[in-house]
Amino acid sequence: MLELIDTHAHLDIPEFDSQRDALVQTCAERGMRGIVVPAVARTTWDNLRGVCNQSPLLWPAFGLHPCYCVEHTDEHVQALESYLQPGVVAVGEIGLDAWEGDHDLPRQQELFAAQLAIARNARLPVVLHARKTHDLLLKEIRRQRFDCGGVVHAFSGSQQQAEKFIELGFLIGFGGGATYDRAQKLRAILRALPLSSVVLETDSPDIPPSFARGEINTPVNLFRINDILAEVLGIAPEELAAQSTRNALRLFRPDLPH
Ligand SMILES: [Zn+2]
Repeated sequence: MLELIDTHAHLDIPEFDSQRDALVQTCAERGMRGIVVPAVARTTWDNLRGVCNQSPLLWPAFGLHPCYCVEHTDEHVQALESYLQPGVVAVGEIGLDAWEGDHDLPRQQELFAAQLAIARNARLPVVLHARKTHDLLLKEIRRQRFDCGGVVHAFSGSQQQAEKFIELGFLIGFGGGATYDRAQKLRAILRALPLSSVVLETDSPDIPPSFARGEINTPVNLFRINDILAEVLGIAPEELAAQSTRNALRLFRPDLPH
């Protein structure tokens, strides 16, 4: 049986309430070892904590997502530290998003810098959201000499940017996006990177893979995503599963009290 870790799934959202238990059970039966559940806003933290308390398979991360930056206040940032209790595997999801429309980038940068410093103090890795902002994120990570690593989730940058993140101790997250034949650039980056820096994710409920277009994405899809990406890499599914799981365990250290 393949052991997998879904390094990014928003399983706390209410849309999963009616099927969460069944999904987690199916995942466990098929060999899922853990699912990282990253937070997006202060208002979701208590529910997320409660959801993750229901199963040892669900690994919580707490943070303020850049896409909701108008909602976040300085008090929310100050509250973050108190949520980083034993069993919490990361600070996230945090980052910068300059993809579309209105984005108050200076405010996003302020929130990101503050949360990165909190992660560093807590000796926790970070789950990074990056869209058109990879170089800005690299700059802040270097400025703070942040050395706890993390995952650049749903990677969308260049190979060169991926290599710079790897130099700084980061892993690169791949998922549904790379299952599409048209994703040639992304697949070339996946092939070029060392397998020791690759982790897998679904980003549930978003980024449905090619075989589940138009459906709500779930962590169960990670098994088939692993098969497809192994084929892209020209290696056995067992090898990709084993290596990506080892990488995720090394980063998130789920068995360690923090
Ligand atoms: Zn996310």
